[in-house]
Amino acid sequence: MSPTFGKCYDPTGARYGIPTYPWRLAPDGLATRRQLRAQGLRPGGQPVAAQIMRRNCRRGGVQVAYLYPLTGAKPVRPMTPGRRAALDRAMTARRTCPNCLTDAGYCIPISLGMCVTCAYPEGTDSR
Ligand SMILES: [Zn+2]
Repeated sequence: MSPTFGKCYDPTGARYGIPTYPWRLAPDGLATRRQLRAQGLRPGGQPVAAQIMRRNCRRGGVQVAYLYPLTGAKPVRPMTPGRRAALDRAMTARRTCPNCLTDAGYCIPISLGMCVTCAYPEGTDSR
């Protein structure tokens, strides 16, 4: 174990207050905010569980990244059945013609305010 490794390795948190691991040696079940993001997750409001530390001798400092438990992570954009249903209803409303009350199969143009068939009952050829 190198001296640098030893300074960064504090799994009990005795030295740094929270469990600290060397860079790239984080235990399973923990992920940085960036790693969570790559999986479409975000910290679910739980406190930082640990940190990973990298000493950069040339720059004379240390870099630290906080680790969050994967078990409490939440999806970035939760798509619940309720939200999906609301979205579907909104889309159906936008597709339904207020004149003939049928689903036009496309979003009703705001400029017409009704489906194209109602707006031009004679068809587009009769000018
Ligand atoms: Zn219509």
